[in-house]
Amino acid sequence: MLMSQLYAPTLRETPAEAELVSHQLMLRAGLMRRAASGMYTFLPLGLRVIRKVEQIIREEMDAIMGQEVLMPIVQPAEIWQESGRWDEYGAEMFRLQDRNGRQFCLGPTHEELITALVRSEVRSYRQLPLRLYQIQNKYRDEIRPRFGLMRGREFIMKDMYSFDKDERGLDESYWAAFHAYERIFQRCGLEVRPVEADSGAIGGDVTHEFMVLAEAGEDFVLHCSKCSYAANVERAEGVDLPEQAPGGELKALEEVATPQISTIAQVCAFLGTQPEDCIKTLIYIADGRPVAALIRGDHNLNEIKLRKFLQCQSLELADEATISRITGAPVGFAGPVGLDIPLYADYAVKGVQNAVVGANKQDAHLRNANLNRDFTVTAFADLREVQPGDPCPRCGGVLLGARGIEVGQVFKLGTKYSKALGATFLQENGVETPLIMGCYGIGVGRTVAAVIETNHDEDGIIWPLSIAPYHVIVVPVSMKDPAQAQAAHKLYQELLAQGIEVVFDDRDERPGVKFKDADLIGFPIRVTIGPKSLEKGEVEIVIRRTKEVKSLPADQVVPAIRGILEGEI
Ligand code: ATP
Ligand code: MG
Repeated sequence: MLMSQLYAPTLRETPAEAELVSHQLMLRAGLMRRAASGMYTFLPLGLRVIRKVEQIIREEMDAIMGQEVLMPIVQPAEIWQESGRWDEYGAEMFRLQDRNGRQFCLGPTHEELITALVRSEVRSYRQLPLRLYQIQNKYRDEIRPRFGLMRGREFIMKDMYSFDKDERGLDESYWAAFHAYERIFQRCGLEVRPVEADSGAIGGDVTHEFMVLAEAGEDFVLHCSKCSYAANVERAEGVDLPEQAPGGELKALEEVATPQISTIAQVCAFLGTQPEDCIKTLIYIADGRPVAALIRGDHNLNEIKLRKFLQCQSLELADEATISRITGAPVGFAGPVGLDIPLYADYAVKGVQNAVVGANKQDAHLRNANLNRDFTVTAFADLREVQPGDPCPRCGGVLLGARGIEVGQVFKLGTKYSKALGATFLQENGVETPLIMGCYGIGVGRTVAAVIETNHDEDGIIWPLSIAPYHVIVVPVSMKDPAQAQAAHKLYQELLAQGIEVVFDDRDERPGVKFKDADLIGFPIRVTIGPKSLEKGEVEIVIRRTKEVKSLPADQVVPAIRGILEGEI
């Protein structure tokens, strides 16, 4: 490819629309352009990177017996109504109608469509396992599309779906995909950490997210300093405490006036106590019924855990009127003593002695409230949001916190979709059973963004060889010097003949401009041909990642480049 022809409009200035480095560099290096909020056009260099990531994914999916298919983007409403997700998906789903008023959506994911596909053909256990995947655009009308490819409204996903005859088969499919994901991200030059995650609305109960630990991440991960335990904050487990509170003197319960003092911070300042000596009482409405959640003062409630524990469909904080009806006090004074609704307490509440709690009375709190003496709880559960510094639930080590970019996720779905859509098969004993499913997604664009986020310097992108748009750029210092131009052209032709992905910067630009573009786009190897080296019969090679410079006799350049590429790809 000739640089003079390449459609890669580079930008010197950082575009105001881009906050993250990866987003800035993808625009500046001319890899893509914004078409609308959360939607991008890939330019030639960007598309080459995307295609390379897709190719790595294909190879690893094929290696675990995945078979590629391509489903439509536009999906009929009926199958989503069958699964119940037509309503559940809410505003994130792009919906449309055809000329006859029939409803469709732009697929945000494809569990329904693939289940509807196999239900009519898979009849017998002999046809299983079946692993089908596609690489396809997905559409989600995200509330906040941002950060370029990280959170688009249109994005490319590889999604695989597995169908097995039993749990053991699902386990095999799940771990095959899990290990394939490890290889895919490693080949893309990414260091990922699989973390236990919450399965959310998609169904199923076992799931891992593949996280790239990076400041730019929108997720929060807790990982053990000693063992391999890692989980995202939605899922990370809080440790239970022994049944017996740490023995100590139980002081007499006492009411104290706390005029207009309602938050934990205000109460602590006023009473000269610490948040960990307080118990917060949060009133929720779960499927229409009021319940109270008790949490240590310095902890936050994890609503996902509470919802799971209560197995409720809807869960919301009670409004002011409900709170004052239930507690007899305005918001900020609820407490467990004398409260006549089910009380669910986080494990850590067991450890709070002589606690400060709300008095269920305006402008009053209680001191020295004690579990079992002054109040009892309906049940203890793991309800809090785990924090860095908490103990590891596996080994007792200490949990550390880090931000993460979720580049992929694997789920054991079980029979949620096969049951809802009636996708069954006949077992060996002739019994008709729903197919057992798993699903496995990778965000292709988000993977590229994560690579840039973790591989760049002040001059631009540093591509891993495996996904670089081109491997080599040949730069004559001056195209005006016929000797340089000729030597550079000859080298370019030789590299092309060897099948090496090379760009020839044949532009009549100052060398500084050409070098800046080469660094910004991030060609892993730059070959410079200048007057001095030509005199000596030498050529200069610069390695982008290390900035290492080597001078080589002209006739050794091609084998040297081949050596570098073969050693690393
Ligand atoms: P998130 O929690 O970040 O919204 P998700 O858990 O909803 O993502 P999945 O349904 O698990 O996403 O999709 C599989 C993969 O697709 C994700 O791991 C991520 O890499 C990618 N992905 C999801 N949403 C987007 C998006 N809006 N833009 C780009 N990639 C996305
Ligand atoms: Mg996910």
